[in-house]
Amino acid sequence: MTADAPGARPEDAPATGAALVVVDDDGTDVVLDADEAAALLALTGGLDDATVSACPDCHSRTLACLALVDVLDAAAPHPRAGELVALAEDAPTSHCYVVDLAADCRHPQWRDPGFTEWFAVVVPPPAGRRPPRR
Ligand SMILES: [Zn+2]
Repeated sequence: MTADAPGARPEDAPATGAALVVVDDDGTDVVLDADEAAALLALTGGLDDATVSACPDCHSRTLACLALVDVLDAAAPHPRAGELVALAEDAPTSHCYVVDLAADCRHPQWRDPGFTEWFAVVVPPPAGRRPPRR
């Protein structure tokens, strides 16, 4: 099996060319490459209907999990939608978080409680793993 065989993608390893990560408060994540990220954003209207708070300069945002499930349900099928729904449904809190890895953005314009919450979860980045929080 080669790395680019269909279905060979390791769910948890940061994929080369990872563009977007959706992560929950436990550090569970779904890593999308550039094509998957672009398709997801196109199919879901930029995830706007699930967005609680977002950086105006990139795609990093805080999402409401229930709304994310609804948005994915309503959208045309996306190859990773099942994983994203599972993440949203299993998330330990009502929010999950999108990290835009493709943007070189420090989110200087994103200043609200949603950012504080996002920052606490995603820094250090999901690839670095946080210790589990109680
Ligand atoms: Zn940003």
